[in-house]
Amino acid sequence: MGKNIIIIGQHSNGETTPATLETVACARAIQNHSDASLKILISGHGSLPAARQLSTETGIDTLMVTDENTGAVQSEIFNALPSAFYFDLDPIYICLPHNSFGMEIAPGLAMKLSACCISAVEKIIFKGDRLCFQRKTFNDKIVANMISVSAITVVTVQSGAFKPVKLDLKEKGNVRVVAPLFPKRKSRHLGILPSKQDLSGLAEAEVVVSAGNGIGKEENLNLIHTLAGLFPKSAVAGSRPVCDRKWLPYDRQVGATGATVKPKLYVACGISGASQHLAGMRNSKFIVSINTDPRAAIFQTSDVCIIEDLVPFISEFINAHQKSL
Ligand SMILES: Cc1cc2nc3c(=O)[nH]c(=O)nc-3n(C[C@H](O)[C@H](O)[C@H](O)COP(=O)(O)OP(=O)(O)OC[C@H]3O[C@@H](n4cnc5c(N)ncnc54)[C@H](O)[C@@H]3O)c2cc1C
Repeated sequence: MGKNIIIIGQHSNGETTPATLETVACARAIQNHSDASLKILISGHGSLPAARQLSTETGIDTLMVTDENTGAVQSEIFNALPSAFYFDLDPIYICLPHNSFGMEIAPGLAMKLSACCISAVEKIIFKGDRLCFQRKTFNDKIVANMISVSAITVVTVQSGAFKPVKLDLKEKGNVRVVAPLFPKRKSRHLGILPSKQDLSGLAEAEVVVSAGNGIGKEENLNLIHTLAGLFPKSAVAGSRPVCDRKWLPYDRQVGATGATVKPKLYVACGISGASQHLAGMRNSKFIVSINTDPRAAIFQTSDVCIIEDLVPFISEFINAHQKSL
């Protein structure tokens, strides 16, 4: 059995990503149930500030894997590392964020190390004396408890499921630089372009009214806009299918590949509650969901569950509000 829990961290232009700090939190939750030590791996062009930040803020020893020759993209570096490199770290668990970075690495790494791969983990629990990884399955309607029977387990951590670790100035980890021999690169890092200015107002909104596939047709967005208009400091958002159909621009998409919001009130209209959507809104202070399906996964995360057809329900709500004025 290995002795270490390895976190493969990600950075953006040298800044640690929030998903990495959530992954560290998951690794700490695993560590609470074992005597394993934590280690962070970080790599890619300009990773030194992230390595320093991680070791200082988490107190965990950090290994910076350098690739001075070409500055390849981060995931390719981790994929290029030989299995001996990972075995030398004596891992029992290897944790990565469940995003495109982690997904580019985790399955191949598990194959390389003959390890078990458990993806999109949301919670660590115990079943008897066995460490158990909880994740959603079957369109997020079922919670699966997974136990690894391998010597090494690769875990990807669902975004939004673990609170990012906080700054801890009492303890500081060390940064060690390693420069393994890499095979010839297949990709080259060309830089990161900043995203367009956020004009959606989502970040500042205290109330977010969000439209899902359940709105049925674009015209029904009027209802969503009118509902949002009843609240001061509100904004309209949507799930990915709504943005894919171009009913809303992508800067309004909430979720793992969209914005993360934490408003005082989040109203989910016709949204099923897929983990990728929950990743962007589950930390909202109060969640109201309207859905015709009483078994919709979103209801498990909601403070108020309204089992209704959203069109007549929202129309009635708006009418009732106007009459009350
Ligand atoms: C790598 C990856 C990243 C992703 N990133 C994101 C992301 O960032 N954000 C995101 O949202 N998704 C993301 N997705 C997609 C995600 O998996 C889901 O497919 C998506 O969130 C579903 O959107 P939805 O809930 O609007 O639609 P659906 O899953 O189709 O749900 C529609 C819901 O509306 C209900 N409904 C239907 N009619 C009515 C009615 N008249 N009144 C009330 N309720 C009704 C239904 O019961 C259903 O629950 C990602 C997927 C992948 C694989």
